[in-house]
Amino acid sequence: MSDQRAVSPHVLIFPLPLQGPVNCMLKLAELLCLGQIQVTFLNTLHIQERLRNCTGAEVYFKRYSNFRFDTVPDGLPEENPRTADEIWNLLQSIDAVAVPIFRCMVTSGVYGPGSENPVTCIIADGIFTFAAGIAGEIGVPLLYFDTISPCGLWTYLCLPKLIEAGEFPFKDDNLDEIIRNAPGMEGIIRRRDLPSFYRTNDVNHVTIQLVLKEDKHIPLAQGLIFNTFEELEAPILSQMLNVCPNIYAVGPLHAHLKTRLAAETGPEAQPTITSNSIWREDSSCISWLDTQPSKSVIYVSIGSLAVITKDQLFEIWHGLVNSGSRFLWVRRPGSVTGLDSETEEIPSELSRGTKERGYIVTWAPQDEVLGHPAIGGFLTHSGWNSTLESIVEGKPMICWPYFVDQQVNSRYVGEVWKLGLDMKDTCDRVVVEKMIRELMESRKNEFLERADEMAKLAKASVSEGGSSYADLDRLIDDIKFMNIPTTWN
Ligand code: UDP
Repeated sequence: MSDQRAVSPHVLIFPLPLQGPVNCMLKLAELLCLGQIQVTFLNTLHIQERLRNCTGAEVYFKRYSNFRFDTVPDGLPEENPRTADEIWNLLQSIDAVAVPIFRCMVTSGVYGPGSENPVTCIIADGIFTFAAGIAGEIGVPLLYFDTISPCGLWTYLCLPKLIEAGEFPFKDDNLDEIIRNAPGMEGIIRRRDLPSFYRTNDVNHVTIQLVLKEDKHIPLAQGLIFNTFEELEAPILSQMLNVCPNIYAVGPLHAHLKTRLAAETGPEAQPTITSNSIWREDSSCISWLDTQPSKSVIYVSIGSLAVITKDQLFEIWHGLVNSGSRFLWVRRPGSVTGLDSETEEIPSELSRGTKERGYIVTWAPQDEVLGHPAIGGFLTHSGWNSTLESIVEGKPMICWPYFVDQQVNSRYVGEVWKLGLDMKDTCDRVVVEKMIRELMESRKNEFLERADEMAKLAKASVSEGGSSYADLDRLIDDIKFMNIPTTWN
């Protein structure tokens, strides 16, 4: 920076405005605040409004004098549902409306080099390719935080190689063909385990072009932050070092935050943590869980973005009821297409089975649910946050992935980490029932033992002396002492 005044470390965090990324970037923000770094958290107005209406997050963060929220519009009309099929519109709108405001803020505005409070480091979602140019303009380091899984991101970064080798687009319909040109994933990944948007013949498809653009920009950052831990993804992280030599694996962030807060408040006190939900949580399910036997309930959720058809809803519902297992099911408003809940006839066996053994909510305090002793398994869409939350709580999974990194995550859960079963590409009541019986009955002990081992590794990684703990300390020091170069040259 040309200004010679002494500046204090000030990080601007710009998350992708969706539930998962906002949630885990807020956790990182809080960890940086605990490390005495000043943080500005840039939300879209829409997300900020949702946080204000559904949680006490704004009030909670007032305890940190070194934290502030700031906002930019996302440019979409308020009534836009901002679900998975709208992500492309959201990204285009951010480019057109939010990016010019962000650029102005950090180049010449409130956080610019000449201001009272200049930004000294930008942490942005990996999909925000515009951040590389803007950070370069003001000469501050950029750290990309890709909140999807490293194994998922690695399949993005391998795309140019897959194209060059003729493995993408796929030459035929055989989705079981093994992928050969993703280093570190040999013998693991089949075509069906790549992100579902790879199932196109069109290299010029907008999503494919977006991935290729991200691939070019990721190496321009001075560091990559991941919500993972070394013991889970060491082979992929070592491949990733070839793309960016400065990696911070600081996850699982939600568990990491608990450890660091406990260290602040002392071992006796239970640290209070804010929920960063953009839906209102229904905590009545916790009272219901309190009345259920240990490890008897399967928790079902497809996260904040995925949508399912009415037929899929009924296949899952029949499978759940026929399995005889108790279940807690999150049915997010707007997550089922083609269903008119006012007029829909529900078969009597489903109503009866649900009344006897089930509980349905519109949004759950998921972290608390997964930590509840009554939960024995998780039927999940394999979102990365959900996967990590399940790992930390030692809960085996049935994976039914929807999009982005979820196809890759479910393969790793089933085949590499052996933490559950991968149900991808089927939605059939017989399969749902069979897998629930396998997870909750016939192979219950085997999966619980594996999950318990992995949970221990996850918790150790965020404890003093652990790999993620050390990486977070390094990240904080690097930001504080401005050890991160602004370019690699
Ligand atoms: N979540 C929650 N309550 C619910 C369902 C989900 O709090 O009823 C949270 C969950 O704990 C996770 C996030 O929403 O932190 C979902 O993120 P994930 O990466 O799993 O999936 P996405 O929603 O991005 O597809």
